[in-house]
Amino acid sequence: SGNLPRPPELRVITVANQKGGVGKTTTAVNMAAGLSLHGLGVLVIDLDPQGNASTALGIDHRRPDIASVYELLLGEVSLREAIQKSPSNENLYCVPATLDLAGAEIELVSLVARENRLRNAIAHETLAEFGIDYVLIDCPPSLGLLTVNAMVAAREVLIPIQCEYYALEGVGQLLRNIELVQAHLNPQLHVSTVLLTMYDGRTKLADQVAEEVRNHFGNKVLGTIIPRSVKVSEAPGYGMTIIEYDPGSRGAMSYLDAAREFAFKAVAAEGVQ
Ligand code: ADP
Ligand code: MG
Repeated sequence: SGNLPRPPELRVITVANQKGGVGKTTTAVNMAAGLSLHGLGVLVIDLDPQGNASTALGIDHRRPDIASVYELLLGEVSLREAIQKSPSNENLYCVPATLDLAGAEIELVSLVARENRLRNAIAHETLAEFGIDYVLIDCPPSLGLLTVNAMVAAREVLIPIQCEYYALEGVGQLLRNIELVQAHLNPQLHVSTVLLTMYDGRTKLADQVAEEVRNHFGNKVLGTIIPRSVKVSEAPGYGMTIIEYDPGSRGAMSYLDAAREFAFKAVAAEGVQ
């Protein structure tokens, strides 16, 4: 395998798709694990009140005294105070989410710079101190203020698309939201990557969806496709990524390949398309 190249500058990526259950969280944590396994420093920011990314990274986000992304957004804690190391992964860190975050969508509305809270909270000196090369932000299944905060904080959007019926449903709305954020809040934001997930090679439909997505997004679609595999869905129950849970499995290999491809792939032309 060998180490992956460090990016010339920090990459901040929002993993977004307002549909639930398409593999956002699975992609965020497993891409993160894949990158970190190859020696890169990675921070996952869990921006979904369900805290599934935190769980998958082995972080107990139900502890009452935990400093979470909620306090980070409200400015009550610093990034340094909110960062936790994922127990069994070198170089992999997480800012966990707690259920408090469910209220943040509304609480943020009345705050100053409400769209910029996350961007302003991501202290670059803290990232440098922890040796972070990649920040992956796991979004909730909505296009609300939390997702807008993620899009303002990031430069890239990674869209996971499930190889199922109605795969592209809602993607148009996501793209329009990205354009709005780009026009008004963050000119550098762009879709850099699309990842096909939960591919079932036995169905003709999966191939049709994959082709449709490639026609739509061209070379932004990673060549690596993530297969549907029960093991991938089991891993979070053990507080692990698939790469820890069953390193030799097809699911683990595919996320390792996707991470490698993502790290090497030249970042698509900056900003406005
Ligand atoms: P989202 O974050 O978009 O809601 P998740 O990553 O939580 O989606 O995935 C939804 C469900 O599908 C979860 O139960 C997850 O474990 C499962 N899942 C994700 N990817 C795969 C896969 N490649 N194979 C099988 N199950 C998967
Ligand atoms: Mg999720």
